[in-house]
Amino acid sequence: VTANPTTAGSISKEVLDRLRAVVGPVGIIEEPNDIAPYCRSWRDDWQGRVPAVLRPLTTREAAQIVSICAETGVAIVPQGGNTGLTGAGQPHDNMSEVIVSTSRMKRIRDIDVVNDTMTVDAGVVLKDIQTAADKVDRLFPLSLGAEGSCQIGGNISTNAGGIQVLRYGNTRNLVLGLEVVLADGRIWEGLRSLSKDNTGYDMKQLFIGGEGTLGLITAATLRLFPKPTASETAWIALDSPQASVALLGHMRQQMGDAVSAFELLSRAVIDLLLAGVPGHEDPMREVHPWYVLMNVTSQGAAGSLHVPLSEALAKALDVGLLQDAQIAASGAQAAKLWRMRECLSEAQLAAGGSIAHDISVPVSRIAEFLQRADRALATAYPGIRLCAFGHVGDGNMHYNPVRPLDWDWPRYKIERPTINRIVHDIVSELGGSISAEHGIGRSRLAELVRYKRPVELEMMRTIKRSLDPKGIMNPGKLVSV
Ligand SMILES: Cc1cc2nc3c(=O)[nH]c(=O)nc-3n(C[C@H](O)[C@H](O)[C@H](O)COP(=O)(O)OP(=O)(O)OC[C@H]3O[C@@H](n4cnc5c(N)ncnc54)[C@H](O)[C@@H]3O)c2cc1C
Repeated sequence: VTANPTTAGSISKEVLDRLRAVVGPVGIIEEPNDIAPYCRSWRDDWQGRVPAVLRPLTTREAAQIVSICAETGVAIVPQGGNTGLTGAGQPHDNMSEVIVSTSRMKRIRDIDVVNDTMTVDAGVVLKDIQTAADKVDRLFPLSLGAEGSCQIGGNISTNAGGIQVLRYGNTRNLVLGLEVVLADGRIWEGLRSLSKDNTGYDMKQLFIGGEGTLGLITAATLRLFPKPTASETAWIALDSPQASVALLGHMRQQMGDAVSAFELLSRAVIDLLLAGVPGHEDPMREVHPWYVLMNVTSQGAAGSLHVPLSEALAKALDVGLLQDAQIAASGAQAAKLWRMRECLSEAQLAAGGSIAHDISVPVSRIAEFLQRADRALATAYPGIRLCAFGHVGDGNMHYNPVRPLDWDWPRYKIERPTINRIVHDIVSELGGSISAEHGIGRSRLAELVRYKRPVELEMMRTIKRSLDPKGIMNPGKLVSV
């Protein structure tokens, strides 16, 4: 992969001196050993090199950095918690970029319980936002495995999904306003807290899911929700993915919007978890081919959900939609079940590595997708360990086949393009998307050209050229110009 040619070439000492003067010695990292963690991805599958990591404290400092970079043609890689999974937050290898990390921008600027909004700097860690909302008896519903490290600027730039999309939508639905440093260094003050604003193009939407390619988000106004007053978690055994789709319909019929999370897990991933990650145990005595981990929550004075949930599950059992079910007896048991879900990435690493796909198809076609993809891969790669789990309520599966036991990782890795092609061609035929929530970054850039309509690609390029004419914002990611 090469960086945008307009930014190639190393960065002069004079430019680095100017950047250092903006942030001071505490706001710049230049020691190669200290820079290294910022240049490596979480899964260690992307690395790059930069002469400096800049850590502005304020929007003003961030704007000055971008101004200098725009003037001198230096490319910027914005970075939050560096938990992204597509290589979008890592620099290239040519020392021609700087990383701008928001890790010092940690201010919660305002919490407004009348408007149900919170305004925060881009570098606030997601978990801290959840905690701050909780303290004022509100819920910020974005929740994902990396929530202890990822930052809201990164969540917004990847339009992150997570486990509560079914009920609350993805990050796009949770953002009311943004403050952004544009690619020429100007600050767009768009921190509105309006639910309704029909005054033209909704510019914030371009930066949400924009992967840092159009500007640097410095702050956001977020939507808060009433805190659930009742919550129950169930572990449900099923005989097929088809049954999970039918069960989802049944549960929504019975409990409406109370169904807030609905995760499908294959037995194969549970086996990987139990074998590779200490501290977990099988929730059921009997082994079943598929499981659903479900949360139901309610607000207001509705009271406990235990009885309605038990009744809805009993009805599902009666009509053969499920094989077995148990409701967590305590908050601690519920947390233990969710911990299993959160540790699945670790389980794949422990099993020797997987080739990840973050796909979505219409919910009604999930079973067909799994059947076709499993058959195609098992035929092409005997011994491959099929590994599927995900947010079935959103049609989003993490379909991550693990290498055959007698293959080593380098041999398996070579097959990545072929395996991707097999999986993504099926997704495309079913009317799905090759990236449901992780984004495009570098890992799916070439494939985007194959699967996205040419007119759509051209519209994306037009937007990129117009908002970032010098191509300095995260070049070589998301959109190829
Ligand atoms: C264990 C684990 C579980 C995960 N689970 C989920 C999940 O369930 N759902 C999901 O959607 N994702 C998930 N992810 C992926 C990842 O956590 C999310 O994509 C997260 O939103 C990234 O946030 P970050 O702060 O780490 O961003 P980074 O990795 O630092 O950056 C991601 C992208 O955003 C850009 N960016 C970062 N900050 C800014 C900014 N201020 N302005 C402009 N651009 C910026 C970067 O340039 C890059 O393109 C998971 C990752 C891990 C490691």
